[in-house]
Amino acid sequence: MSEHEHSVFSDKQFAQVEAYVHDIQRLVGLGNWKLHVTNHAPDKQDAYAQSDIGEVGMDCYLSFAQDFLELDPTQQRETILHEMMHMWLQHLFGDYELSLSHDAAVLLRRQAERVVDGLACAMAPLLPLPKWT
Ligand SMILES: [Zn+2]
Repeated sequence: MSEHEHSVFSDKQFAQVEAYVHDIQRLVGLGNWKLHVTNHAPDKQDAYAQSDIGEVGMDCYLSFAQDFLELDPTQQRETILHEMMHMWLQHLFGDYELSLSHDAAVLLRRQAERVVDGLACAMAPLLPLPKWT
């Protein structure tokens, strides 16, 4: 399967999304991470975006669903911030999560979603909006 065949964005859209993601990455203090924006859809069908953080940390793949570009700019900004906050939380949860029981890990992940949503919501108004729309 070639990556091009299943591209989510056109080349121009992808370049704009990638540049914006890297701007936000620097603005929220994650500039030392290797953040790879991919141009293929997330595994999760219901997600606008998905971050897959490498096991060693400081390394993340970010993918977007087709309908991401149909969100309004404030939702796009918050969606990207949500994934960035997962990267920050990885410093806290990364190795720790591996030591938990299945149930405790599920609970931790559910609580983490609430925390990243709260942080993304609080920070979003402080950051620039995407300009591709
Ligand atoms: Zn999340």
